[in-house]
Amino acid sequence: MQITRLETFILHVPVTNQQIADSTHHVTHWGAVGAILRTDSGLTGYGHTGTHGHLASDRLIRDCISGTFAPLLVGEDPRDVGRLWRKLYHAPSIRWVGRAGITQMALSAIEIALWDLKAKAADMPLWKLLGGDGGKRLEAYNTDGGWLNWSRRRLIDCARASVDEGFRGVKLKIGSDHPRDDLDRVAAVREAVGPSVKLMVDANGRWDLPTATRVGRWLEEYDVYWFEEPMWFDDVGSHAALARSIQTPIALGEQQYSLDALRGFVEAGGVHYVQPDPTRIGGVGPWIQAADLALAYRLPVVGHAGDMMQVNQHLSLAHPACEMLEYIPWLRPCFEEPATHEGGFMRLPQMPGASTTLRTDAIEKFAVC
Ligand code: MG
Repeated sequence: MQITRLETFILHVPVTNQQIADSTHHVTHWGAVGAILRTDSGLTGYGHTGTHGHLASDRLIRDCISGTFAPLLVGEDPRDVGRLWRKLYHAPSIRWVGRAGITQMALSAIEIALWDLKAKAADMPLWKLLGGDGGKRLEAYNTDGGWLNWSRRRLIDCARASVDEGFRGVKLKIGSDHPRDDLDRVAAVREAVGPSVKLMVDANGRWDLPTATRVGRWLEEYDVYWFEEPMWFDDVGSHAALARSIQTPIALGEQQYSLDALRGFVEAGGVHYVQPDPTRIGGVGPWIQAADLALAYRLPVVGHAGDMMQVNQHLSLAHPACEMLEYIPWLRPCFEEPATHEGGFMRLPQMPGASTTLRTDAIEKFAVC
């Protein structure tokens, strides 16, 4: 099998609740920027990365895919994923300016499309190709119900609705200018859902060490399952110091672009729940390496769903460090087999590939130039 052509796409899909916010972003659309790999076999591979839908930066990712990486792929066998990843990552045309950010997101999208093709060529869903047995129950927790721009009333209603829908865990965004306000919201939701539901909080890197330490101690009263991205994304030392001074576990990983970056947190004891994102860390291969690293430290892995679960569900179903996955339904109209849950557990994907195949009508509806 040979790659004959590479096409790109940028989709901007409205988020379910029109406008949502965390401590650092307001988002109206989720961006899916990716690659479509055509082959001489008739099979087609799809892969995407996830953005906040800003067209100028999405175009940079697209141009990296089409201008830098595409010429290196035509004529190659897409099943040779590891060698092709190294070929792209170490390409002289990109390595000097790459290894993180836009170039790594472009590489992630392509690598995922390669795995999609490899699984389709093997005529099996990716989880099966990766060694999953299909018997695993993967718990979903709901992120799309706790946004920072919502009223307390709405948070309570959404948390109760999530529990009624079968979710056993919900996440609240925190990280406001007045942390005591965040605590009031945490207290209200904890009271609304009761003691048996997992309650996570996510500050999206907003605070410094003194503030995160204060908040972390306050959170202990509410049995918070994890405290996500309390401080700046690259600050290993502060996360390790925080982990030593509070009882609530720390979660992070979505902003790490390499195994090396994640390893620093793991080795320093600055993370308890490891959250690699396949659309940032370099694709399926580096995600598995990150999960293996976590497993070696006996840390649980709960993937970050920048892909809106499509690839993450396969990885989490196949990897022994994973028992749970983030759930956000924004891209469900885009895929032939959208990731979904039943009673709070991910439904097992059945179609060959990585669940990244786009619907034709979704491209027509959501594509931007
Ligand atoms: Mg997060």
